[in-house]
Amino acid sequence: MTQLEKARKGVLTEEMKQSAAREGVSPEAIRQGIVDGTIVICRNINHTAIEPLAIGLGLRTKVNANIGTSRDNQDLKLELEKLSVAIAAGADAVMDLSTGGNLADIRKAVMAKSGVAIGTVPIYQAAVKTLEEKKAISEMTPDDLFGVIEENGRDGVDFITVHCGVNRESVAAVEAQGRVLGIVSRGGSMTANWMRCNDRENPLYEEYDRLLDIARRYDMVLSLGDGLRPGAIHDATDQGQLMELIILGQLAARARAAGVQVMIEGPGHVPITEVEANIKLQKKLCQGAPFYVLGPLPTDIAPGYDHITSAIGGAIAGAAGADFLCYVTPAEHLRLPTLADVRDGVMAARIAAHIADIAKGIPGAFERDRKMSECRRKFDWQGQVEASLDPDKTSALLEKSKSANEEGCTMCGEFCAIRLGKK
Ligand code: SF4
Repeated sequence: MTQLEKARKGVLTEEMKQSAAREGVSPEAIRQGIVDGTIVICRNINHTAIEPLAIGLGLRTKVNANIGTSRDNQDLKLELEKLSVAIAAGADAVMDLSTGGNLADIRKAVMAKSGVAIGTVPIYQAAVKTLEEKKAISEMTPDDLFGVIEENGRDGVDFITVHCGVNRESVAAVEAQGRVLGIVSRGGSMTANWMRCNDRENPLYEEYDRLLDIARRYDMVLSLGDGLRPGAIHDATDQGQLMELIILGQLAARARAAGVQVMIEGPGHVPITEVEANIKLQKKLCQGAPFYVLGPLPTDIAPGYDHITSAIGGAIAGAAGADFLCYVTPAEHLRLPTLADVRDGVMAARIAAHIADIAKGIPGAFERDRKMSECRRKFDWQGQVEASLDPDKTSALLEKSKSANEEGCTMCGEFCAIRLGKK
């Protein structure tokens, strides 16, 4: 039985109890949230080595970091280092988005090393496998795709992105309205191309019950992907994006009816004036399902700083109700991230998540800021390190501020406002 099926029977599972203890809420609140579909617990029945990850309404906003090889960079050791860096920086989950090398082996190595929930995008592996067989991606069969999804479930993947809402109707809506940047999701683009070349419906939409059977067997959370998400703020909130969201809402209801836990993925690039509306629409159309946002980036023109851009959008999205933030690194749109990029990306997303938690009234969030302010008033430098989101960086900067003492720090010297205020 899945967590959802057990929750409906009134069972308080160990996963619910552990999640409740971490979140500072009652196990009953977690159970009821799962029944309502507003909370999911990510932990595949074959991945018991990790802490269960609860995501959703009333819980701390979570952060995901993406890692993974590409055709041009197949260094597994480096990707495993990124995994460690992401977890050490505070990522709640990691997605292995590898597209280069032996993807099954890479996934297994990532899972063996991870103490946090792992997500994947199975269509990548199905596509790479098809190319290795010297075939075009359009020759991939539905059985190839479902076979890889089954393999992911069996290996213990905790959540998978599946672009089930990319169907004839939503793709036609994108084409009819036109876009500056077209389809930017890798999985969405592969799916739309496959449909066009084969003149067929998306197998993940057409055979959705087959997908639900697999997900239910392993209690693998479905993250219904936004394959038609806008990749430019000019394309945001258009007919294709909203058509897909409506379809995802329908599919989320079917997943729950089948006992499968489900969350929804969201944009993408969105102007700041539309971020809140996007969250409200998702919550309404998807019956309160947890919302996993990819940014959003409220401007397109800051490559090199997209971790900051996405933190701005993520804070607003989180404050409006988004539950799970996918990090964006400074390398976004430019190249594979380095270890430093991964760390910067996780920290930026954690700042956004904490700002969202203050707005949501998550227990302990506001109090943490008060603690920091009190430490500042008392010139309690060690207390400031401990209260900070990034103690390592705070401590390192403090060490360079040689005069940080009961008189203030090097910033203002004799004009320290806090010291003068005390006098
Ligand atoms: S010197 Fe300036 S920055 Fe440093 S503690 Fe005093 S007021 Fe704050």
